[in-house]
Amino acid sequence: MTHFVARLAVPAVILLIVAMVPACNTAPEECEVCHRPMHAETYYEVHLENGDTRALCCPRCGLRFQQEREDVAYAEVADYATKQVFNTADAYFVEDSEVHACAHSRVQEDRSGTQYQVAWDRCLPSLVAFDSRDTAEDFRKTRGGVIKTYDELVAELALAPKPIR
Ligand SMILES: [Zn+2]
Ligand SMILES: [Zn+2]
Repeated sequence: MTHFVARLAVPAVILLIVAMVPACNTAPEECEVCHRPMHAETYYEVHLENGDTRALCCPRCGLRFQQEREDVAYAEVADYATKQVFNTADAYFVEDSEVHACAHSRVQEDRSGTQYQVAWDRCLPSLVAFDSRDTAEDFRKTRGGVIKTYDELVAELALAPKPIR
């Protein structure tokens, strides 16, 4: 009986620990493409044709990843306000608002201490998603930016030059 209880107790403790961790932490802690920290409010997930998924830090990073791939089946994104994940086809994105969830500071220092301006950042211009146009519009009024649909963003990507590898 004692052995039986002991054997049960270990998984029970693990289960308890897992249950205590907030749900958003079940996602990887860093972006699988650019290795920046993840943010639940800008979570982006790309589903590939072979069933694999990639968890990304934000919609901009996700769209840039999609631009480099030919095998994207569909993508999902978190609503910036509720953190609920849903299909990007139903999303209203706000581009270039003042919210920069994962961008580095504009001015950086190299190892010699020389400062330089960041000219290109794969997470800029910033992009956040909402599941309704009304919420996106409310956000845009206070934080700035332009509202775009997923189709519009994908069409722009198709025209944009491919990133240099
Ligand atoms: Zn990223
Ligand atoms: Zn990002």
